[in-house]
Amino acid sequence: EYSAGFYAGSRQDLLAAVKKSLSQHRFEHVVRVEQAAVKLAQLNDVSVEKASIAALCHDYAKERSAEEFKAVIKRANLDPDLLNWGNFIWHGVVGAQIVHDELQITDQEILNAIVRHTVGAPEMTKLDQIIYVADFVEDGRDFPDAQIARSLAYADLKAAVTFETKHTLEYLLSSNRTIYPTAILTYNAWVAGN
Ligand code: GDP
Ligand code: FE
Ligand code: FE
Ligand code: FE
Repeated sequence: EYSAGFYAGSRQDLLAAVKKSLSQHRFEHVVRVEQAAVKLAQLNDVSVEKASIAALCHDYAKERSAEEFKAVIKRANLDPDLLNWGNFIWHGVVGAQIVHDELQITDQEILNAIVRHTVGAPEMTKLDQIIYVADFVEDGRDFPDAQIARSLAYADLKAAVTFETKHTLEYLLSSNRTIYPTAILTYNAWVAGN
């Protein structure tokens, strides 16, 4: 029932392609992200079709091997610094290239939303914000603040981006994880007061 031409087939065709590339548990996460993203698109006057496609594709490449990601980085001439990082950043940034190549999705807004879904960016379109937030608040998320994040998302999308950015950075700091530089830029733009 897609009609805007961002994907050549139907939603059912896209669901089948995504299902084939993911484990059952991650496929179910993706379907819940789509449900949240469509609601957020309706609330924020964004194309429901773009939100659906971006959501269904946001983790499309998440289960690919490190070898495959490294090969794509080299073949597509992506930033060679990406080679120093891992799956958490590859599945979005390099994943968008894989979505482009395998699913023939060329809409740059959809691809950017996939690129930005994990660490955000200082400037995010409404579609970027929707995918970033939907991933965090989908109905399967049950971390302590999930219900707060969910209520905020459906009341004020930008406030939900700010909440998620702060929450994620606090989590990464508390577990001594390496912070991807863009995540700090996102924090400075969306959370820091000056
Ligand atoms: P998912 O793909 O649905 O699991 O969700 P995300 O794409 O939002 O996040 C993927 C993983 O990356 C999660 O485990 C995050 O905690 C982790 N992550 C996000 N930002 C960073 C970062 O700056 N550094 C590190 N080390 N991990 C991060
Ligand atoms: Fe992800
Ligand atoms: Fe996320
Ligand atoms: Fe996800």
